[in-house]
Formats: sequence, structure tokens, C-alpha cells
Amino acid sequence: MSIFSKIIQGEIPCYKIAENESCFAFLDINPKAKGHTLVIPKKEVDYLFDLEDEEYIELQKFVKKIAEAQKKALNCNRICTAVIGYEVPHAHIHLLPSNSMADATLSGKTKKYSKEEMQEIAQMIQDNME
Ligand code: 5GP
Repeated sequence: MSIFSKIIQGEIPCYKIAENESCFAFLDINPKAKGHTLVIPKKEVDYLFDLEDEEYIELQKFVKKIAEAQKKALNCNRICTAVIGYEVPHAHIHLLPSNSMADATLSGKTKKYSKEEMQEIAQMIQDNME
């Protein structure tokens, strides 16, 4: 079972934002920006583009909802998305709040937040979900 499947099952803790029948969203543990979020399909596939069309569309619809909530909660210019996937073999879409081109990278320094701050950030995003 992937580390992300264990997060979905509640075996490993996370700062959860939301879930539906087929998707799950939670804060990245090594955030590159305040509110850096991962959105994953509950179905455990390594490579994003191995999802069936319908599963892929459902995931992207969920991504859009989360991105809208992030943008309201964090008051940033835009939410950037990225798919890398070399570290964890369970497809995941990075949602990275940004204010400039310089922010829009996963190669920058990891931001440090306390447990309380991470909980607060997740809650702020949740509170802005439609
Ligand atoms: P990628 O596979 O796209 O290169 O990166 C995987 C991402 O998952 C990284 O940004 C990393 O910080 C995040 N990540 C890895 N393990 C965990 C974990 O146990 N919990 C959370 N919340 N994020 C994780």
C-alpha cells in the first residue's frame, strides 16, 4: 500500500482538507508555499495518465474546487499545478499558491510551519470550500 493510501485510510496522519468518493486533498508535509496541497485519486495508481478518462476528469474537477478554496483562503494571485511523481508512487497533483513567477516552483526552499499553523491553514482552506 502506498504512503498516500495509508493517509487516506487514516493510518498515517495528515492535514486533511477534503475528500469525496474518489479523491482526497491534504497539505504537503514539505510545503513550498503556504497552503501547498496535494490532491490524489483514492485509487492507487502510480502514473497520473494511467487513470481512466472518467477518473481523471473527476480528479481534475476536485482539483478545481480545492484551488478555488485555496485562492480565497490565501488571497494569492493564482494557484499553480504541477505533476512530478518521482518520490511517491501514487499519482498526486501539487496545488501551489503563488504571487509571482518566482514562487511558482517546487525547487524552492521548504517553508516551515508549526503543527498549529498547518492545522490553521488546512482549516482556512476548508472554510472556503463551496
Ligand atoms: P513528487 O513525487 O511529486 O516529486 O513529490 C511528492 C510530494 O509528496 C513531496 O512534495 C513530499 O513533500 C510529499 N510527501 C511525501 N510524503 C508525504 C507524507 O507522508 N505526507 C504528506 N502530507 N506529504 C508527503
